Amino acid sequence: MQIPGLAQTSWLDDRVPEMLWAALLIAGLGRERALELFRIVAVEARKLAAREVHGDATLSGFAELPDDAREQVLHVFQERTSAQRALRPLLLFDALPSRDTWVRALACDPLPEDWSLLADAVLSVLDHQSQEATDCRWARVMFTLLGGRLHIPAEMGEEFLRYPDVDLRKVRPSVRALEGSFALMPDEAKSPWPVQFWAQCYRDTRCAPLSIAPPARAPLAGTSTNQAAVVRSELVAHSVATRSSTTVDARHEAVFGIAAYVLSVLDDLLRISNSTSVLGRTGLRSILEAYLTLKYLVHKDEPELWLAYRNYGSGQAKLAFLKLDELEGEAPISINVQTLERLANEDRWMEFVPINVGHWEKSNLRQMSEAAGVKGEYDRFYDWTSAFVHANWAAVRNAEYDVCANPLHRLHRILRSETRAQEDVVPDACRLTDLLLSVVEQAYPGFSVRVSLPPSV
Ligand SMILES: [Zn+2]
Repeated sequence: MQIPGLAQTSWLDDRVPEMLWAALLIAGLGRERALELFRIVAVEARKLAAREVHGDATLSGFAELPDDAREQVLHVFQERTSAQRALRPLLLFDALPSRDTWVRALACDPLPEDWSLLADAVLSVLDHQSQEATDCRWARVMFTLLGGRLHIPAEMGEEFLRYPDVDLRKVRPSVRALEGSFALMPDEAKSPWPVQFWAQCYRDTRCAPLSIAPPARAPLAGTSTNQAAVVRSELVAHSVATRSSTTVDARHEAVFGIAAYVLSVLDDLLRISNSTSVLGRTGLRSILEAYLTLKYLVHKDEPELWLAYRNYGSGQAKLAFLKLDELEGEAPISINVQTLERLANEDRWMEFVPINVGHWEKSNLRQMSEAAGVKGEYDRFYDWTSAFVHANWAAVRNAEYDVCANPLHRLHRILRSETRAQEDVVPDACRLTDLLLSVVEQAYPGFSVRVSLPPSV
């Protein structure tokens, strides 16, 4: 990164179009015959070097050779009908460097089916470490080596000559490293060919969206709307049974309120198609936050903390109210400013309660889950649900794009006509809800009902 003038090039973007001739020969002739031809082409480089002519075995590199030198190299293909046929797809391209020489050397016209031959060849070298890609890169290294432009230790040169009948674990990485280093030569003028190649591929061939659906799974333990309703009514009954007076009870109201809130989110997730939607992930996140918060509160079980939870919420309502109140008639339609005002002022008496437990903020959720001994649940669910809540690229990419399976389109992304169904969140939501219900039971014993049903029900 610190050396000036180094060009960053990519195998797929820049070098695949340049080494297309080699990829086409492997795809068309088979590996053995293609490697043989690569050697013959490299020998031409040695002959040229004797005349002080040096070049690169790329399509742009061939084009930069003097005319007679280029004719000499391409003559290797001109003499072989099978090579001419294998290389025919090159002629599909208007911008092929030194197209005229190629037309003479290949002596044939491209056919429509050449697009699929081309696609097969490109597919085999998309991965820069595939055997075919390594063979292409070896062809380039050999041309440079025999052309006298590259000086390496004799032992290494010997191994390159004997490729692929050598210890490939050792030689393959050297081939890749050397070929990769050619791209870093600062004097390499950047040829327009790679950009032109991909542009014509995109212009002349169709997209093939490849949709990756979540793997089909056997139904996991979940719940039913009926069971969720049973739990809700039991929860209400238990709330009444454990309430002793009409005085403000921050603990009781938080425990039962949070549990009811979670049941309501779960109920939403049970509606058709919600559980596989983007909102399904944000629903799961709400359940997670509710669980971690309640677990922490019950774990500490300090009167000041119950009040802090409550006061923080009222404070947030007050903050929202003050901001929106200034907007007068322009407040969001979905927010009732009067409701906010009422909520902010409902616990006015709490202004007189001394509270010294620090901030009650979302950023504390990790520490809270640690303190309550449930960091495992936090780690399980927090990060990926965050991606959806915050519209991170990974979530956006996963939900809204497919990959194009046409190799001539470089695995680009295609916007989907409808959002991809994600994995079902209901089993996880049920699990977290049941964990939360056990916290309710811990705080107010005698509450054993849960939402999860066995898979067979
Ligand atoms: Zn495409």
